[in-house]
This record gives sequence, structure tokens and C-alpha cells, in this order.
Amino acid sequence: MKTCPKFTFGVGDRFAHGAKAQLQAFVSAKELGIDICPVWNKSNREHDIIGSEPQTTRDAADQAVKDLNWTSEYLLDADHINLGTVDRFVAPCDFFTLDVADDIGEPAAPADVEAFIAKHPELIGSVKVEGIDAPLEISKELVEKTANQFLKATQKAKAIYDHILAAKGGTDDFVTEVSMDETDDPQVPAEMLIILAAIADQGIPIQTIAPKFTGRFNKGVDYVGDVAQFEQEFNDDLAVIAHAIKEYGLPETLKLSVHSGSDKFSIYEPIKKAIARTGAGLHIKTAGTNWLEEVIGLATAGGDALELAKEIYAKALEKKEALCEPYATVIDIDHSQLPSAEEVNGWTSEQYVSALTHDQSNPGYNANVRQLLHVGFKIAAQMGDKYLDALKANEAVISKCVTGNLLDRHMKPLFA
Ligand SMILES: [Zn+2]
Repeated sequence: MKTCPKFTFGVGDRFAHGAKAQLQAFVSAKELGIDICPVWNKSNREHDIIGSEPQTTRDAADQAVKDLNWTSEYLLDADHINLGTVDRFVAPCDFFTLDVADDIGEPAAPADVEAFIAKHPELIGSVKVEGIDAPLEISKELVEKTANQFLKATQKAKAIYDHILAAKGGTDDFVTEVSMDETDDPQVPAEMLIILAAIADQGIPIQTIAPKFTGRFNKGVDYVGDVAQFEQEFNDDLAVIAHAIKEYGLPETLKLSVHSGSDKFSIYEPIKKAIARTGAGLHIKTAGTNWLEEVIGLATAGGDALELAKEIYAKALEKKEALCEPYATVIDIDHSQLPSAEEVNGWTSEQYVSALTHDQSNPGYNANVRQLLHVGFKIAAQMGDKYLDALKANEAVISKCVTGNLLDRHMKPLFA
């Protein structure tokens, strides 16, 4: 097992032109005494939409590391993969997010469920978990229900893990994450404990787990939900993880992973408090926020670059149904609040930047425009060299946006 550093931060480099500016944020953070390991994550879905290969992400990351003389660790995440999609990620990646969301709810063999319940009498009754005031009251029915819901998914996760291990020639020099975030229902702490017991039974050396938390984690915008309830749940999950490490011999480095974690400004303070209080680690995944900074950079630059940013919006608006469809569970766009292409074409650089930049105190900010463009990267991919050339021509201004966004709006509030 490759040991996962305590604080890891996922960054997405959709067009393989942003790695250096992203890494610069980690360099600057380090200078401030914040030690975070970068993890470049790009999901199979993103590679499919853009038409790229995981190796290109690896090459861009390696080059950035070389350019900035980064001597600390960095990782490359095969994000949200399953048995059918993992193969092209095996060689370039050393972090694997096993996505079992589709298998949740698929019943395991009744004999397996029975064996799980028989093996885990400690899960039934009043379970005292250090760090949670009242014991978790877990009935046999809940264990059975959770096993029915998740046991098959943990078996599938093991199959993916074994497949990667074999493809890597038997060497497990990688980090394993299990993600369950892209499902309909959040997992409560008691379920998390049962799931971790099942993962331990499978022998998966899990180091990060991504549950679905309560509330909405929409792409590129702030958390929508009850912050106090989130805080309670996050703290309870940390306690459950610490408990499971001891009880089931899971890796000491096991930590929570927050997916769609960019821009969730209202929960950063509770997360920061919780990790400071407990000494727990954290993995937070951000991806598309970086691509939005590319568009903001283009708009900031003005001239042809601003025109290109307007063209991206107009095309995204035209194709909004198709663009939004794969992301239906992670966006909430009020279509009546999307300005027309004509209106945006009349915008100044400042108006475009105000609408898209995630500054909720700016009256020009439009969360609907932001979410639409977040899922609109396919438009830029279809522009091909026209878009990539614009990234190169405006590299200085874009880099400033990309670095500043990661450092000032994400890293400092979470870790400083
Ligand atoms: Zn996810």
C-alpha cells in the first residue's frame, strides 16, 4: 500500500494546460506552512467528454512538477472508475477511486449477508463510539438492511481492487479510495460503520472514503443545506472512522473524502474546526472550478479572449439540455435566470467576470451561469486548438486566476 499523505487536495486539469498554475497554489501554501499533497483527478466521464487519455494528465502533472521543482509527493487519481473503465488508468495512476455507487442496492447473496451478521455481533445494540456523545443504537434489522444495500458494492470494490493489483503486476503501490457519493440517499454514521466493517472484511486497504453527505453538493457553487446538520454528521463520521480503524484494523491513514468539494465555502469552517480538533486527515476533490477559472481568465483578458468566452457561453446555452443531462444529480440551474446569448454578447469584461467569479458578495454573480459553464467544458473541447491556443496566449492572466482561486478561496479557508 502506498501511504496517503494526511492532507490531499484533488485538482482537475481538464485540458492539460493548467497543472503548473495549480501546483503553484500548493507551492505558495507550503510557503505559508500548509502542507498539502496535490492529487490530479480526472474522471472517466471527463476523459470521455473531452476525448482525452489519462496519460495526458500524467504528462502534464509530471511536467508541472519538473517546472516548479516540486520535491514533495503528488498523486494521480483514476477518479470514479469501475471494472469496465479502469484499464486505461492503471499505468499512469497511483490513486484509484473505486466507484461503487451503481452497485449500492444490488442485493448480495443471502448467505453472505447472514455470514456478515454472524461475524459482527459487535455492530448490534448500543455501540459506543469515542467522540460521539450518545452510543449508536444499531438494530439487527439495520445491519441486515445495510448489508443488503452495501455488501455487494463492497464485493465489487474488492474485485476492482484485485483487478488493479493484478494489472500492476501484483504491486499495491497505490492509494485506494471508495466512493459512494453519487447516490440518492446520504449515508448516516451508523451505516458508515457497517460499510467500513464490510470493506475491512473484504481486505481492501482503503485510505479514503467518500460518503454522500446530507445537503446538495452542486458543481462549482456553494453548499446548499443545513450547515449545522452537516457539521454534526461530519464530526460523527470522523469518530466512526477512528473507531473502525481500531476495531477492524483498517489503515491508520483512512480519512474522509469530500467530493464536489470545490466552492463549498459555507462548510469549510466546520470542516477546518473538525480536523483541527481531531487531528484527522482530509481529502477534498475539486476539478471543474479550475476550468471555470480558465474562462474567467479569458474574460479578464478582454479582446479576442473575451469574445471566445462569450462564444463558449452562447454554445453552452444552446446545448444546455445535453450538457446538463449527465450531471443532473449535481446541479440545480434556474433556467429563467440564465441571460440570453445576446445579452452576454453585450457584456464588458468586468460584467462577464463578475457573473462567473464565485464571489457571493458581488451583485453581478450568477450561480446559474456558473453551473451551466461548469458542465459546459465539452464546448471548449469541441473548439479544439482554438481553445487551447487561447489558453496559451493568455497563460499569465489565466494562471493568476487558477492559482488565486485554489489558494485564497480553498486552501487558506480550509487549512490556514
Ligand atoms: Zn464523486
